[in-house]
Amino acid sequence: MKKKVHSRVVKQAAFDSLRQRGVTIEDIAKIVYEMQSPYKPDLEMKTCVDSVEAVLEKREVQHALLVAVELDVLAEKHQLSEPLQSIVENDESLFGCDETLALGSVFGYGSIAVTTFGHLDKVKSGIIGQLDTKVDAHVHTFLDDMICSIAASASSRLAHRLRDQEEAEMDQKSEHAG
Ligand code: MG
Repeated sequence: MKKKVHSRVVKQAAFDSLRQRGVTIEDIAKIVYEMQSPYKPDLEMKTCVDSVEAVLEKREVQHALLVAVELDVLAEKHQLSEPLQSIVENDESLFGCDETLALGSVFGYGSIAVTTFGHLDKVKSGIIGQLDTKVDAHVHTFLDDMICSIAASASSRLAHRLRDQEEAEMDQKSEHAG
């Protein structure tokens, strides 16, 4: 019988992979804050952190993250076969599989997540830009796109929640008025 991996193990591995690659939840939350604070001036950082954590709870996000980091690490160790080794190591702009993998996990958060993903992939805010700039032997070809994906999903999730909250407050007010 095939051995099933417990969800807890997968979740832990996904969180560990981020940490090992030098990315914190706060790094991603800062991007979410930057995206959402123009619409909600009193937005708190803690709310952004919670949203990032909620996205990271999703199994499909964890799986994509594990694949992404694994490929980056293998490329760093020169353990991929050619020509994939060179393509991943050099982060070839027309490769596209890094974006495709990352894009796959934003669909659960609606069209705002998709457009935000495209935006972040272009402007490369915060940690995304740092990962994208090659300063040492590290390869982050897949990880930078996964961070775009997680930040975009967390932003979209937050946008929807903030709207729900606003409407609930409006309903409450009109009840009182009525
Ligand atoms: Mg990339």
